[in-house]
Amino acid sequence: MSMYDVTVIGAGPGGYVAAIRCAQLGLKTALVERYPTLGGTCLNVGCIPSKALLDSSEHYHQAASSFATHGINVDGLKIDFGQMIARKAEVVKQNVEGINYLMKKNKIDVFHGNASFKTAQQIIIKNDQASTTILETRNTIIATGSKPTALKGITIDKERIITSTEALSLKEIPKHLVIIGGGVIGLELGSVYARLGSKVSVVEYTDSILPTMDRSLGKELQKSLTKLGVAFHLGHKVTGATVKGKKVGVNMLDANNAPITMDCDYCLVAVGRSPYTNGLDLSTIGVSTDERGRINVNEQLETSVKGIYAIGDVVRGAMLAHKAEEEGVFVAEKIAGQHPHINYLLIPGVVYTWPEVAAVGYTEEELKQNNISYKSGSFPFKASGRARASMDTDGFIKVLADATTDEILGVHMIGPRVADIIGEAVVAMEYRASAEDIARMSHAHPTYSEALKEACLAATDKRALHA
Ligand code: FAD
Ligand code: NAD
Repeated sequence: MSMYDVTVIGAGPGGYVAAIRCAQLGLKTALVERYPTLGGTCLNVGCIPSKALLDSSEHYHQAASSFATHGINVDGLKIDFGQMIARKAEVVKQNVEGINYLMKKNKIDVFHGNASFKTAQQIIIKNDQASTTILETRNTIIATGSKPTALKGITIDKERIITSTEALSLKEIPKHLVIIGGGVIGLELGSVYARLGSKVSVVEYTDSILPTMDRSLGKELQKSLTKLGVAFHLGHKVTGATVKGKKVGVNMLDANNAPITMDCDYCLVAVGRSPYTNGLDLSTIGVSTDERGRINVNEQLETSVKGIYAIGDVVRGAMLAHKAEEEGVFVAEKIAGQHPHINYLLIPGVVYTWPEVAAVGYTEEELKQNNISYKSGSFPFKASGRARASMDTDGFIKVLADATTDEILGVHMIGPRVADIIGEAVVAMEYRASAEDIARMSHAHPTYSEALKEACLAATDKRALHA
C-alpha cells in the first residue's frame, strides 16, 4: 500500500490543477481518474470541444454570410462535417496529452479506475480489469465534477434525445434541433448548429434566455441569435418527449399553458448539470451532501470529515472550469499550511456565442434587490470604430458603479471578443478601481476595449466621448 500526503479524486480542471499545486508545494500526490483520459468534462466533453466547434462553425458562417461584403468570393463553399468533428477530436487529444505531460513533469502518480472510500484515510481504486488498488492518504480532495441533469418525463437515449456530450460528436448536422434550456450550453451549441444550417428552436422555461445573468444581456443576445435564425420559445414548459424512428416529438405547455408538440430530428436536453458523487461511498465515512446532492463544505472547502476536501462542480457555486481551478489551488495551499483566499464575486462568467457575453460582479437585479445605490453607464459597439471595421456592431458594455464612491460593482458585456475584455474588468475590481480610474486610462485605438473606457466615462457624469 502506498502512503500519500494528498489523493485527488477526479482529473478535471479542479482535480488536475489541485494535484499540480500540491506537488509544487512538495506534497506526495496521487490523482485518480475513472476514464482513460485526464482533463474531465472540460477537456473531453465540455469547454474545449465546444469552443473548437464554435470556432469552426463561425468560420463557415462568416464565409457564407459576410465574405462577399468584404470583397471575397468563395465558390463551392461546403461543409465537411466529419472533418470538423475530427479536428475537434484532435484539439481534445492535444489538450489531454498536455495534462499527461504535466502529471509526469510534476511527479504525480496517476491511477485509472473508480475511486471510493474504504475509510477516511484509505481509497480503493477498481478498474475495468477488476484489479483493486488501495491508497493510504493523509488528505483527500474530491473533484468528481458533474453530469447533465435529466428532465422528468424524458429518457435520454443518446441517439435522438441527447446531452451536450453527444451533441459534440454527432454524425450529421440536424435538420431541426430542439434545445430544452436557454442557458449557456443551449445557446453555445445552438449557435454551432444554427451557423451550420440547422433549424434551431430553443425552449426555455423562464421568460428570458441566460436568466441568471444581468437581464440586459439575455435580451440583447436573443436579438442577435434571432438574426442568425434561432427561434426562441420562452415561458414554455417541456413535459415529455418521444422518439419514433428518426423523429422526436417534444411535448410542452406554451406560455398560455396550451399543450403543443414540436417535431424535430434531434432534441438536446440542456437544463443544467448535477453534482456527481456516484460510487464514492461517501456515507461510509460520513461526508454529507445537501438537498441538491452537492457535497457540503465549509469556507475552507473542507467537508464534514477532517482532511477530506471537495472542490469544483461537486460543491456549491458556479459550475465553471476556472472556479474549479481556483478552488484546487486554494485547497492545495490550505493543506500545505498557507492562507489562500478566493473572491467568488470576481469569478467571471462567459458565453462563447457571437457576439460573446461576459460578466463579473453584481447584476443590476442584484443591486436593486440588495438596496445598493448605483449608477450605470453603457456604450454600444455600433459606436465603436473597431467594431464597424469588423462588422461586429451588435452589443454593448455596461458598467455599474457605486452611486457614492464610484467603485465598480459590476461589468456586463455583450459584443466582439468580450470574453477577453472581461479580464480588464476583473483586474479593476480586484484592485477596487472606480469607474473614473478606468475612464482616465489610455486604451489603444482602435480596439474593442475602448468600449469599456467609454462605458466608464458614461457611468461618471455621462461623459462618453463617442456616443
Ligand atoms: P469535471 O471536469 O467534471 O471532472 C470530474 C472528473 O472526475 C471526471 O473526469 C470524472 O470522470 C472523474 N470522476 C468522477 N467520479 C470519480 C470516481 N469515483 N473515481 C475517479 N474519478 C471520478 N466551463 C467554463 O469555465 N468555460 C467553458 O467554456 C465551459 N464550457 C462547457 C461546455 C460544456 C458542453 C460543458 C458540459 C461544460 C462546460 N463548462 C465550461 C463547465 C466545466 O466543464 C466544468 O465546470 C468543469 O469541468 C468542472 O471541473 P471539475 O474538475 O469540478 O469536474
Ligand atoms: P444553465 O443552468 O446555464 O441553463 C439551463 C437553462 O435551462 C436555464 O435557463 C433554465 O431556466 C432552463 N430550464 C430548466 N429546466 C427547464 C425545463 N424543464 N424546460 C425548459 N427550460 C428549462 O445550464 P446548462 O446550459 O445546462 O449548463 C450547465 C453548466 O455548465 C452551467 O452551470 C454552466 O456554468 C456550465 N457551462 C459553462 C459554459 C461557459 O462557461 N461558457 C459553457 C457551457 C456550460
